Amino acid sequence: MRADPPLLELSAVSRRYGGTVAVQDVSLTLSPGETLALLGPSGCGKSTLLRVIAGLERPDAGQVRLNGQDRTASPPEQRNLGLVFQDYALFPHLNVLDNVAYGPRRRGQGRLAAKTAARAALAQVSLDGLERRRIHELSGGQQQRVALARALAPNPALLLLDEPLSNLDEQLRASLRQDLGRLFADTGAGVVLVTHDQHEARALAGRVALMRAGRVVQIGETDKVFRRPATAWAAAFLGERNLYPQPGVEVLLVPERAVTLGVGEVWTVLESVPGVSGIEVTLDHRLGALRLTLSPREAGLVSGSEMQAEIDRDQCLVLLDDR
Ligand code: ADP
Repeated sequence: MRADPPLLELSAVSRRYGGTVAVQDVSLTLSPGETLALLGPSGCGKSTLLRVIAGLERPDAGQVRLNGQDRTASPPEQRNLGLVFQDYALFPHLNVLDNVAYGPRRRGQGRLAAKTAARAALAQVSLDGLERRRIHELSGGQQQRVALARALAPNPALLLLDEPLSNLDEQLRASLRQDLGRLFADTGAGVVLVTHDQHEARALAGRVALMRAGRVVQIGETDKVFRRPATAWAAAFLGERNLYPQPGVEVLLVPERAVTLGVGEVWTVLESVPGVSGIEVTLDHRLGALRLTLSPREAGLVSGSEMQAEIDRDQCLVLLDDR
């Protein structure tokens, strides 16, 4: 028996705007139930790639296949997908229920069936009871939930999200991020999530495609990408702080793996300040600086202006210096 074709398959997709290469030679696949993050800095081509997948942009070269069918030239409504944008793109003149029922209606469902689907989608995003509200009567977080419900209501095979949390404040973002994780697991759809935030990618995606200047420079399971960045640029973008340049390469030291405290060489404590996830400590040595995030208990070991730390060189990675 032949294996099913992937839900989504991009083959050598490129897109340029005038002299700007936005996306260059991208190939990847996505299976149902999988969440893939397109992760990279601003301007690296994430949104353009998402818009190509959605059918909002035509690629200059390459193919977009859905369930094995070439859909490169198909309009968005023939792709069975749900779209969620950073700015929600809701209809201000419609109430919540009608905003959400719009998707199923457009796909030819009757008024009643569309409203039933809309109610179910609103329950999925915990907005039941707000059906009659106008969009301007909702908070930013609630508006983003409406946008999500609108994308989910037609039960799409593929859900595409472009920075869905970036217009929300930190607290809302954290709570909606949790809900997104649950939703992604529940829908069974394939999900492509555009984000510049490595924490978001780590929390939500099973696989990550790391993008730089239009290209996918690394793709793989999220844990593996974070554990084994392919190059120094990737490591730095993923938040690693201990990179030591050598001719042509950089040595990456991940403290959780390569440092034992309380034994070994004596380091000078340059700085010790409270951070988001612990005490941020900078140690100095003739080899260079070492940045650690310690629990308050561990930080208690930082006595006076010196502490002991042993580095296991076998646990360090030597990466191509491509920065
Ligand atoms: P990202 O989503 O990673 O921030 P984009 O896909 O938005 O990146 O943009 C990739 C590149 O393409 C950038 O250099 C951007 O300026 C350019 N670009 C995107 N959309 C357009 C457009 N409609 N016209 C011209 N240039 C564009």
